Amino acid sequence: KGINFTGFFQQIIDRFEMAKEDQFIFERAFSHRDRFVTIDKDKITQVLDNIISNALKYSPEGGKVRFELLQKENILHVRISDEGVGIPKSDLPKVFDRFYRVDKARSRKMGGTGLGLAIAKEIIEIHGGEIWADSEEGKGTTIIFTLPLDIPRREEDLS
Ligand code: ATP
Ligand code: MG
Repeated sequence: KGINFTGFFQQIIDRFEMAKEDQFIFERAFSHRDRFVTIDKDKITQVLDNIISNALKYSPEGGKVRFELLQKENILHVRISDEGVGIPKSDLPKVFDRFYRVDKARSRKMGGTGLGLAIAKEIIEIHGGEIWADSEEGKGTTIIFTLPLDIPRREEDLS
C-alpha cells in the first residue's frame, strides 16, 4: 500500500521547523491533496534530512527555505530551495559524487563528509527517480528529485 507523500513531507518539515533558528523562514508552497508513492520511508527521510540540513547549513545569513510539490504526468517532483551561498555552475554535476565538497576551506568548518548527496542519489535512483541541482552563486540553490506516483488500479476504481 502506498504512502501519502504530502503528509509524510509535512511531518519532516515540521520536525525541522521546530528546531530551526529564527533567521530562517519556511515556506510550504504545495497543496494539501494526497499524493501516493511507494517508498522506503526511512530511506527517503534520510534523503530529505540531508537536503534540508544542507539548505540550512549553506545559508549562513538564513533566508527563506521553500518546499514545493509538483505533479507532471505520473511523476512527483519535490523541490527544496534556499537563499544560501549557492553552487558554482562548474561544480553542479559533481556535488552528487562521493566526498565532493565545493569549497574545502569553507565547508570544513561546517562539518560533513560530502556523502549526503551521493547517498541521496543512490536512494532516489533505487526508487526509480532522478535528482539534480539548480543554483546561482550568491543567490541560492534548488534541489529537485522525482518519484513515480502510484497509479490507481482499475479494480480498485471499480470496487
Ligand atoms: P554530509 O552531507 O556528508 O554531512 P556535505 O553536506 O558536505 O556532507 P553533501 O550533502 O553531499 O555533503 O553536499 C556536497 C557539497 O555540495 C557540499 O559540501 C556543498 O559544498 C554543496 N552543497 C550541497 N547542498 C548545498 C546547498 N543547499 N547550498 C550550497 N552548497 C550546497
Ligand atoms: Mg549534506
